[in-house]
Amino acid sequence: MLIEFMKGFTVAGRHLVRYLTGKGSVTFEYPEVRREQPPFFRGRHRLQRYQDGLERCVGCALCAAVCPSEAIYLEARENTPDNRVSAGERYAEIYQIHMLRCIFCGFCEEACPENAIIMGPSYELALYKRTDFIMNKEDMLDSPEKGFGDYHEYDPYISHVTEESDREAMGDPWERTGS
Ligand code: SF4
Ligand code: SF4
Repeated sequence: MLIEFMKGFTVAGRHLVRYLTGKGSVTFEYPEVRREQPPFFRGRHRLQRYQDGLERCVGCALCAAVCPSEAIYLEARENTPDNRVSAGERYAEIYQIHMLRCIFCGFCEEACPENAIIMGPSYELALYKRTDFIMNKEDMLDSPEKGFGDYHEYDPYISHVTEESDREAMGDPWERTGS
């Protein structure tokens, strides 16, 4: 028992000396300071756009099909020349994720053929009402100004992707759709 106490005090003393000698602290002054997450961190979902503002999600529902928690619900609609929302034939008119069901497995982002959905670094997910845990498309969609998503900052599997190589692989969205 005494030995365990001594071990605990030694660890605390070591961190105190570290802090007092200016070598850094193991704690953060949250929320003023937020811990930087590693690239593979799977936090709050984001839906990305192309640089020209078109949504990357084409409403294929592969993410919903692969989700083991059945947390994703979406309804797709056809793009029209007057209302082009995404780079494919269809777009997700409704896209929801039930965050109380989500187990943050990352299958949705791995299954997505368009790199539309990613799990970003945000880990602040606490809310007061259960109904608020249903995230809608508007809650996840990047703003049009953001343009080409910086998903490669977060996802080590596609860190080799650049805007140019992405365009080359996917083709120009306007050409793909013949619009
Ligand atoms: S992270 Fe996993 S559980 Fe959560 S929405 Fe994606 S596939 Fe479903
Ligand atoms: S997020 Fe990706 S996988 Fe899910 S519907 Fe959109 S394009 Fe398909």
